[in-house]
Amino acid sequence: MKKSTQAVHIPFHRPDPYGALSHPVYHSVAYEFDTAREMADAFCNRIDAPDYSRVENPTVIHLEEAVQTITGAAAVSALNSGMAAVSNTLIAVSGAGKNIVTSRHLFGNSYSLITSSLARFGVGHKLCDLTCPGEVEAAIDAETCCIYLEIVTNPQLEVADLRELAAIAHRHHIPLIADTTVIPFTEFSAKALGVDIEVVSSTKYVSGGATCLGGLVIDYGTAPGFSPRMKGEMVFNYGAYMTPQVAYMQTLGLETLGCRYARQASSTLQLAHRLREIPQIKHVNYVGLEDNPYHQLAVSQFGPTAGAMLTFDMKDEEACFRLIDHVRLICRATNLFDNRSLIIHPASTIFGAFSDEEKRAMDVDSRTIRLSVGLEDVDDLYDDLRQAAEQ
Ligand SMILES: *Cc1c(COP(=O)(O)O)cnc(C)c1O
Repeated sequence: MKKSTQAVHIPFHRPDPYGALSHPVYHSVAYEFDTAREMADAFCNRIDAPDYSRVENPTVIHLEEAVQTITGAAAVSALNSGMAAVSNTLIAVSGAGKNIVTSRHLFGNSYSLITSSLARFGVGHKLCDLTCPGEVEAAIDAETCCIYLEIVTNPQLEVADLRELAAIAHRHHIPLIADTTVIPFTEFSAKALGVDIEVVSSTKYVSGGATCLGGLVIDYGTAPGFSPRMKGEMVFNYGAYMTPQVAYMQTLGLETLGCRYARQASSTLQLAHRLREIPQIKHVNYVGLEDNPYHQLAVSQFGPTAGAMLTFDMKDEEACFRLIDHVRLICRATNLFDNRSLIIHPASTIFGAFSDEEKRAMDVDSRTIRLSVGLEDVDDLYDDLRQAAEQ
């Protein structure tokens, strides 16, 4: 079956006594057992039965199984935000004295997690150009615990060669960990590209309506020791497991993801072309444009669509602010892949806490605006951006 079919026909882990079609929300912290023996077996994982909702909940398991079916993963852990997925994964693979090979082109909080929070616990990092395999290979040493990257960086929109990075990682017996938030996992196979562990902010495409925060750790079972550590240690000790109400909403979001994404990606490509006609817009960056330097590589890795986010450059920061102040339809908000289109100036907001020098090193430019394209009619979006640019 195709992924879009699977997404709406995920069997329940246990049959529902009433034949419910929508998975019930098990708003219960604990579960009762008939005997002390059964309780001991459940706690020690000798039988398949949840005991406490910090580590297992039937509604969350349903979402995890849906994602597992769609991606072909060995195990999936649903956590309560994208950052929980990133932090729990990196904590699980690292330790004092180890180092993470990654780049400066990262989501702001992931960058600060690695360079500040994990650094305080003795986890090192080596920042390199992940589009340059020689540099990556040279950065790896005996203490390197993983290569970590984002598949299309934000806001630079840089794409690294995943097959090449996977080959390097596997030559050194370390996992390749990819944050794939910007292209839905329903559209391509990270596993086929050699990714060992995929992390996703399901707050974005999966949730869609921006109803709730969520994160997914999609484990392909190829990183030694990762599965038992994630399921048996991280969710227990760090307490970031998803809650049942959120899992319910994210399961509904997953069911309609394919439809929403097809429209959003197509609108984004159309807008990328049309925004080039607006004289006040100096440059449009979107890997879906055929003359984008990463276009061919992106197509070979992710298929024909390139996500529902683009960036464009204005003359200066003031022109960016003016355009953002004048949109009437598009929402001035952070977040990505909401049903509504969202606009933001990354340098002064998401990266506002970084110094100018740090921003320069991260290639976060003050002339850049980020647009997340929603489900509105594409002509309405174009008209809104054009009138705002003309102000
Ligand atoms: C939003 C985002 C995150 C963090 O996700 P939250 O759900 O907000 O914690 C991580 N990585 C990328 C690429 C993101 O866009």
